[in-house]
Amino acid sequence: SDDLLRISDLRVSFRVGGLTARLAGRATEIEAVSGVSFNLQRGTTFALVGESGSGKTTLARTINGLQPVKSGTILFEGQELQGLSNAAMKPVRRRMPMMFQDPIGSLSPRLSVRSLLSEPFVIHGLSNRDLNAEVTRLLTLVGLPREFADRFPHQLSGGQARRVGVARAIALDPVLVVADEPTAGLDVSVQGEVLNLLNDLRDRMGLSMLIITHNLHVVRQIADRMAVMYLGRFVEQGETEAIFRAPHHPYTAALLSANPEPDPDRMRQRITLPADVPSLLARPKGCEFHTRCPQARDRCAVDAPIPAAVGDSRLTCHFPLNT
Ligand code: SF4
Repeated sequence: SDDLLRISDLRVSFRVGGLTARLAGRATEIEAVSGVSFNLQRGTTFALVGESGSGKTTLARTINGLQPVKSGTILFEGQELQGLSNAAMKPVRRRMPMMFQDPIGSLSPRLSVRSLLSEPFVIHGLSNRDLNAEVTRLLTLVGLPREFADRFPHQLSGGQARRVGVARAIALDPVLVVADEPTAGLDVSVQGEVLNLLNDLRDRMGLSMLIITHNLHVVRQIADRMAVMYLGRFVEQGETEAIFRAPHHPYTAALLSANPEPDPDRMRQRITLPADVPSLLARPKGCEFHTRCPQARDRCAVDAPIPAAVGDSRLTCHFPLNT
């Protein structure tokens, strides 16, 4: 098959609380990612969607080797990543860089764009290349004039800074870019430009992308497939267009209904979810979404649904919608 990345039954946990919590016999381990499975095909974009705390960033960091795996497998280009040493992960990260939120704001304001774009080559022992030529090539790829090499971060607009971040991510010809909220903090029009750039690079360079976002407009503009996360699990995954047309999981339906639809014929009734997101320390019994689910029935509070195929989607619900 053409799967670039295959994730199977992945679990990631954290220890929380100190000695007091342990002495009190309270749970000291929380599972931030719980039995997640998906495949990402070459040349496609997969979006992880969910509220903050749903585990989407932890999942992406784990795939990138920044967080240890509890169990499950991560196959990237046929290679199992779980258990690789930091040294062994280095060439993998070169093929699968992670683009963080505000990718250059976190770096030294005293570094010029030229230095920022040269850095990946230096880190990976490629400083023998013609770095000026590489910097010009990268600026051109992301649609910035070559003179920008001499600018400093404070001289860039939000959109220009994001382009420099993209240029850093693609510097070493990766096959997969993992992007955490690639448009956070940008105006809607600038968001559109950055998404067009990412789509364009995907097509021109044959890139694959894993996008983490809570913004459903972003998902629809960029992702071929998507997964909705709740308390560390995938509650629904499938083709983006199919999910937008007819979400099967009540949580997906609620998220989509909160997102104004540009086409008035398809205007949805807004679904407001009651209650707050439960804590990972006190996961609800049965279906973990039943405390907030508008569709919940008696069975949901006692009997946990198991992921199952519905058409092209996989979802975790006893009473799916739109079937
Ligand atoms: Fe809602 Fe029940 Fe489906 Fe859970 S299993 S999402 S509570 S209808």
